[in-house]
Amino acid sequence: MSEPYAVLVDVSKCTGCRGCQVACKQWNDLSAGRSTQTGTYQNPKGLNPTTWNLVLFNEDFIEKDGEKQVRSFFRLHKCMHCTEPVCLDVCPSQAIYRDGETGAVVIDQEKCDGVGACVEACPWDIPQLDVMNRKSTKCNFCIERIRDNKKPACVNTCVGNALIFGKRSAIYAMAEERLEALKPKYPDASVYGTDKEAFFGGLTDVYVLPEKPHYYGLEMPSMAGA
Ligand code: SF4
Ligand code: SF4
Ligand code: SF4
Repeated sequence: MSEPYAVLVDVSKCTGCRGCQVACKQWNDLSAGRSTQTGTYQNPKGLNPTTWNLVLFNEDFIEKDGEKQVRSFFRLHKCMHCTEPVCLDVCPSQAIYRDGETGAVVIDQEKCDGVGACVEACPWDIPQLDVMNRKSTKCNFCIERIRDNKKPACVNTCVGNALIFGKRSAIYAMAEERLEALKPKYPDASVYGTDKEAFFGGLTDVYVLPEKPHYYGLEMPSMAGA
């Protein structure tokens, strides 16, 4: 079996342009929904059955050079395609499968009967229940594009080079290289998702974070979704 793929989400390069959000809608033919301004750049408020990825925006105080500053933190939020996905383990209909060639974790819409066990189980609150159609929905890693030797649509559109697609070992190594490059300026920088013990065998989407994970709405999986 060939090595699966991965995506490096280099948050230090993300401009928050939301091109990835639009590209996902376009490629997957997901309808736009009416949303409400809630006092943040984030729109819509969260993932939903027709929004499979989202740029999360957070404003917070951070201590820099001995003083508190207000800063904006943003990152792409989507299914991380765990190597050992808990959503798959809990599905009573065996509707979720992990494709070994690509690394994609996919909900088979034919088999899904919308009981929502995956919604409850995912540590990052990724699957979204389409109540009307009784189906659970989420990012499918653009598995058909990958099989067609194309990058996922969100990665393909990222002009800031914040999303890099490649074979898993190369992406994991790249994440460590970026971490080393960021450390002198960002001493709290970290890589999120490559630790196989802590992250269900390792994530397909791994993040390089300039500041502590909580600024980006990320916790360790045991704490996420609590
Ligand atoms: S397209 Fe790239 S730079 Fe723009 S918000 Fe998405 S990840 Fe960030
Ligand atoms: S991030 Fe959540 S929905 Fe995606 S594979 Fe992991 S457990 Fe499943
Ligand atoms: S990989 Fe494809 S389905 Fe998943 S968020 Fe990106 S564009 Fe959407």
